Amino acid sequence: MIIVLKKGTEQREIDTLTDMIVSQGITVNPIVGSDLTILGLIGDTSKVDDTQIESYRCVERIMHVAEPFKKANRMFHPTPSVVKVGNAEVGGPKLAVMAGPCSVESREQITEVAQAVKDAGAAVLRGGAFKPRTSPYAFQGLKYEGLDLLCAAKEATGLPIVSEIMSPFDIDVFVEKVDLIQVGARNMQNFDLLRQLGRIRKPVLLKRGLSATIEEWLMSAEYIMAGGNTDVILCERGIRTFETYTRNTVDLGAIPAVKKLSHLPVIVDPSHGTGKWWMVEPLARAAVAVGADGVVIEVHNDPVHALCDGQQSIKPDVFADIMADIRKIAAAVGREV
Ligand code: PEP
Ligand code: MN
Repeated sequence: MIIVLKKGTEQREIDTLTDMIVSQGITVNPIVGSDLTILGLIGDTSKVDDTQIESYRCVERIMHVAEPFKKANRMFHPTPSVVKVGNAEVGGPKLAVMAGPCSVESREQITEVAQAVKDAGAAVLRGGAFKPRTSPYAFQGLKYEGLDLLCAAKEATGLPIVSEIMSPFDIDVFVEKVDLIQVGARNMQNFDLLRQLGRIRKPVLLKRGLSATIEEWLMSAEYIMAGGNTDVILCERGIRTFETYTRNTVDLGAIPAVKKLSHLPVIVDPSHGTGKWWMVEPLARAAVAVGADGVVIEVHNDPVHALCDGQQSIKPDVFADIMADIRKIAAAVGREV
């Protein structure tokens, strides 16, 4: 971190600012020029508060040389992380394909879809039990019963399960029942939830917030990792842009960007990313081509009657086609499924 001081700053002001920074365990190296003085800060500056420094009247501006996220940063952890989800791995040579309905609706529905996606080659079963709906009148999920039905589908198929948590009060039950805890886009900056997920030892699927920058997303991963839970998988699920044709805009450029900045695995959700069932296939292919570690896809046996997101849910036969496509593209980019 570099602090540029205003022209004509007096030594006494430099000393006051330096003392404040040194008291935080940081080394300050001053570079005194004829016009400007610059302070180079060496050490763990992640806890230094920029706004506090900017409040000193002698400060012209602050420049960061390192990213504010440390545990998620590739600079300090050059090898890519592999996160285990039950018997599956995310981030290794094998792509992780997660699939299942937006919401768990009944025992028949979830076990039927689970078997179909397993037969097609999925590694993880998804299913929402607690649904974050825009309208309070829309189907809110089967909640605890939904988690039990997911467990039954896991029992029947052997697939590990991922489901979304909405409240920190449910952490114990999620730790007991699911293999991967999903933090949805709407909760990406629920810092209390993130902190509490940092204290457990269960992998977390962190979806990108609706309007989150890549840095904000990685800072949310940092919240979880700072507590000691380093098993975080990122998920690009589309962001808000001026485009209204699609539900969201899938930011495929975020995949190589995250790969450069972080060692954490990153997957793509082409279902929420596009909001259109017929766009899921091309975007799933693109996700693999651009280097994602996997995809998460909404699959429903009867999309027309789905209680949530039928418009973006594909049927099991289309899912099988996507798996066949993904296998070819994976081979072309040096991965397998
Ligand atoms: C979901 O995966 O069902 C979901 C609600 O996703 P998102 O948080 O990305 O909108
Ligand atoms: Mn959905």
